[in-house]
Amino acid sequence: MIVILERGVREGLIARVVERLTAAGARVQRLDGERVTLAASGGAGPWDDLAGMPGVASVLENSSATPLVAGETPSQPPPAPKNPGHEERGFRVGERRIGQGELFVVAGPCSVEDPETMERIACAVAAAGAAGLRAGAFKPRSSPYAFQGMGEEGLAVAHRAARNHGLLLVSEVMDATQIPVAVRYVDILQVGARNMYNTPLLRELGRARKPVLLKRGLSATIEEWLSAAEYVVSAGNPRVILCERGIRTFETATRNTLDLNALPVLRERSRLPVVVDPSHGTGRRAYVRAMARAAVAAGADGLLLEVHVEPDRAFSDAAQTVDIPTLEAIVREARVLLRALAEVGA
Ligand code: PEP
Ligand code: MN
Repeated sequence: MIVILERGVREGLIARVVERLTAAGARVQRLDGERVTLAASGGAGPWDDLAGMPGVASVLENSSATPLVAGETPSQPPPAPKNPGHEERGFRVGERRIGQGELFVVAGPCSVEDPETMERIACAVAAAGAAGLRAGAFKPRSSPYAFQGMGEEGLAVAHRAARNHGLLLVSEVMDATQIPVAVRYVDILQVGARNMYNTPLLRELGRARKPVLLKRGLSATIEEWLSAAEYVVSAGNPRVILCERGIRTFETATRNTLDLNALPVLRERSRLPVVVDPSHGTGRRAYVRAMARAAVAAGADGLLLEVHVEPDRAFSDAAQTVDIPTLEAIVREARVLLRALAEVGA
């Protein structure tokens, strides 16, 4: 059972609710998010009086595992299907909107390279109509011998390029110690697939005052992914963007299998905006454009794309990195698709 308290509730009232729960044998865990939430396990009901206690906003007795991410309230308990439209989901990031009917395109190299290359890429990304620049400075590489990224110096390089062209900067943090450094440069903090289960990192991101782009784990179910998002939201940060980036399957023709089934499922189970990364989803640049189209058609709120002015020279993930003309074609096609979808009311 989850008890959500009113905003700004006094400590004395919280203590009374905790006492009421523990007196009935429940074990109570307190989460200090946007509002204080009490998660109660065990104990013996009835609990009918709880909702009427001073300071209590709502009581979710049969909630799903991810009530905050689902936007659940007692009057809309699960399994009532939710299918919110673009306009009801999402939030603003600076001047940009995500999940509110505008396609949120973020593009850039897998890793930050030198300042000149970064500048050329940012210029082209902005001209193509993207909202954000992606560029990794702390890189989670499978091999310890692979390029590990430029660290803070890389963040500064990417930040300058993004600002020069009015782009939001998206970059990954791999552990909690990198957050204070990253927030000085980055507009959206990325959690990579390998870190989706890193709950201490997720909790710490809950305290960050920047949106979080949460990639799906390599073999994570949608439920596990939403639970990871719930960690961030329950710790105080409601601005989470989910990113489908492909999952591990038996297929070897592509690096991962882009799970577009996730889009309608997430639409039903969550109020969070969703972007799709067809670069990691396919691992091959020849397939990225087709899967970007498919993602938009299936209802993605945005795309995360690896692009480079000279893709073959990219320091990491060159095989899945597209060139600038391909990025321009993807953005053009996405807009045509969005218009067509709006016309048929999809
Ligand atoms: C990336 O975006 O460059 C990246 C490392 O992605 P993922 O965590 O999805 O593998
Ligand atoms: Mn990459």
